[in-house]
Amino acid sequence: MIPHLDLKQINRPYQAEIAEAMQRVAESGWYVLGKEVAAFEQSWAAYCGVSHCIGVANGLNALELIFKAFDFPEGSEVIVPANTYIASILSVTSLGLKPVWVEPDPKTFNIDPKKIERKITPKTKAILAVHLYGKCCTMKPIWELAQTYGLKIIEDAAQAHGATYAGLKAGNLSDAAAFSFYPTKNLGALGDAGAVTTNNAELARKISSLRNYGSTIKYYNDHVGTNSRLDELQAAILNVKLRYLDAENIRRRELARYFLSEIKNPDLILPNLKTLYEDAWHLFVVRHPKREEFIDYLMDNGIQATVHYPVPPHKQRAYAEYNHLSLPITEQIHNEVVSLPLHPALTNEEAAYIVQTINQSVLQSHAAVGYYSGV
Ligand SMILES: *Cc1c(COP(=O)(O)O)cnc(C)c1O
Repeated sequence: MIPHLDLKQINRPYQAEIAEAMQRVAESGWYVLGKEVAAFEQSWAAYCGVSHCIGVANGLNALELIFKAFDFPEGSEVIVPANTYIASILSVTSLGLKPVWVEPDPKTFNIDPKKIERKITPKTKAILAVHLYGKCCTMKPIWELAQTYGLKIIEDAAQAHGATYAGLKAGNLSDAAAFSFYPTKNLGALGDAGAVTTNNAELARKISSLRNYGSTIKYYNDHVGTNSRLDELQAAILNVKLRYLDAENIRRRELARYFLSEIKNPDLILPNLKTLYEDAWHLFVVRHPKREEFIDYLMDNGIQATVHYPVPPHKQRAYAEYNHLSLPITEQIHNEVVSLPLHPALTNEEAAYIVQTINQSVLQSHAAVGYYSGV
């Protein structure tokens, strides 16, 4: 079987270096917020092209700490993409802020910049730009809106390590960006980890204090903070794996290019080719009108495809107060998306087999005519 993702296989090439880094930390006698974290913060800031990076416990905390640091009045509105992973939205609601949902552009899966302006009210304070599946949002119109209306932009870059837009890296496209280094991400630790990147020195200082109980000098607290510290073990592992991120992203792009040129199946809508070399290809997401049958067909042929994501945030039981909303583009996307296996350890033979299997499937070809006229 070709699994959707095999973390053991992905981490195997770095096993010796990871073991050495772990040993070094184990023997150091210093386990939380130390030299390894400081080194990673410096390297990740440099990689993203920003002046500050703050290591935190996970990606959700990174987003929450950014909102906490901005200290928007309770009930302020944040423009969010309706088509995203629930963590993006949780960061907004957990701070007592109100998500204002905007539909995606079906060609990019990301927030449709054309639909943002009509949602801006006097209570709007920020726009959350989620670079879903590894593709940066179309930032130029978002920058212009933020300028015009005096809004902050926050990136959820949890899926976009190394992605670029207009020559700039994800993490350097806004006032502050959140990264996750959850094991499945393009840069993944062997546990939970996250970071905030920003060019705003004051914001960086505040977040760095907030993650450690609101304290910069031990036992003196300037802010009502929290515990969201990054540990030395994860930072040491990230320091190893960061050296290979670019090579891994190049491999992801190579596979994406291969899929985009070789998959020929009228039932499928393939991801947009236009940003092939900018995208980080965290996921290779296609759309199929009969998704479940397509997934079963692949599984019968030894290919594990998955769904990111089956239920949009506004339709989750956790968000009952938003269940009545109608966001048809988001809902259709959530009904049709399928993520094919695409990761740096996928072999050429596996990729060829995936293409061949998909090209031989004829589940829906008659109904495909006019399919693009939907959204
Ligand atoms: C993974 C992810 C997060 C949350 O990161 P954690 O480290 O799991 O907290 C947030 N947003 C998006 C888009 C993600 O993919």
